[in-house]
Amino acid sequence: MDPRTFISQRSRAVDASGIRRVFDLAAGLENPINFSIGQPDFDVPEPIKDAAIEAIREGFNSYTPTQGIEPLRRMIADHLAEEFPGYDPTVLVCSGVSGGLMLSMMAALNPGEEVLFVDPYFAMYKSLAKMLDLVPIAVDSYPDFRFPAERIEQAITPKTRMMIVNSPSNPTGMVFGDADIQAAAEIARRHNLLLIADEIYEALSYDGPCASVVQYAPERTILLRGFSKTYGMPGWRMAYAAGPEPIIQEMAKLQQYTFVCAPSMAQKACLVALQTDVSGLVDIYRRKRDIAYETLKDAFEVVLPSGGFYIFPKAPASFGGGTAFVEKAISRNVLIIPGGVFSEKDSHFRISYAVDDKKIREGCQILCDIARQG
Ligand code: PMP
Repeated sequence: MDPRTFISQRSRAVDASGIRRVFDLAAGLENPINFSIGQPDFDVPEPIKDAAIEAIREGFNSYTPTQGIEPLRRMIADHLAEEFPGYDPTVLVCSGVSGGLMLSMMAALNPGEEVLFVDPYFAMYKSLAKMLDLVPIAVDSYPDFRFPAERIEQAITPKTRMMIVNSPSNPTGMVFGDADIQAAAEIARRHNLLLIADEIYEALSYDGPCASVVQYAPERTILLRGFSKTYGMPGWRMAYAAGPEPIIQEMAKLQQYTFVCAPSMAQKACLVALQTDVSGLVDIYRRKRDIAYETLKDAFEVVLPSGGFYIFPKAPASFGGGTAFVEKAISRNVLIIPGGVFSEKDSHFRISYAVDDKKIREGCQILCDIARQG
């Protein structure tokens, strides 16, 4: 028997080759400057760890209710009501924003319908859409990565049912301004789209709080926020979805038959996480952003990011694309990801600057040397 005959079309539809190629090239490196990892460089704060350990010791190790433990759902709802006065969504605790993305697409869309998002995009949007027999529509935001409202209007068809708004963005670090977010809400209303607000980097915004489509179209928004990036716990798989009751209930039903529930001990720990002040992070990451941008800006065409921990410079034209530049960088022991992993174009590359300041300086300097040498 050939096991390959059991690989589904669904699975064949998605491709991991871009990232895999980088990791293959990187496998031989000793102690590289690693700008490839999309996770924070700090550990989970101690009181949050203690709460998880205590929960395990106390025997809080069973399944929880599918929708999440009541105190956590209530605390999340209270936080949201404080942030957005009058907002009273239904809350589902889920296994990462990844889990929330999958459940929201599964709950809301039928095969053949279109999911629209801004290009460059978080790679999972496109892969999930394809896995679920949906049609991904990536709307170009090059060269400045501003919200492409007009291009979005032109790309919408009668089959478009969902628009994902990711701000701060992975991989560009863009934070869409209030007018852009308002425009997104208006477009969604005009074309009767469901909005997914992927705000996983919401706590890492350098110029004040991020605008959210929740402010302008709460009735048609599924808000996804996570604990991975804010509290340094991507391995704990914790996030939540908030939105209109009928859709969130449907997502909970699908969670019951897939993820079952988010990890029990991590749910307890997130009660402590939500009461932990992480405002100091913004200053630390702004400083890292400044080091990366200031080092890169003379050698690259690069947009100043205002959130998250990514920067997305253009590879010099002489390299003929992001992938060729990345190969050269890896040969100099600097690990970066080609833009084609996050985009229909392969002209840029992504740096995650969630590493120590000295390494940012050193790694970006090497990238500048490579660019200058052509
Ligand atoms: N959305 C974006 C934009 C991300 O960058 C990530 C993580 N890289 C996720 C969602 C998923 O995060 P998690 O599943 O850990 O919550």
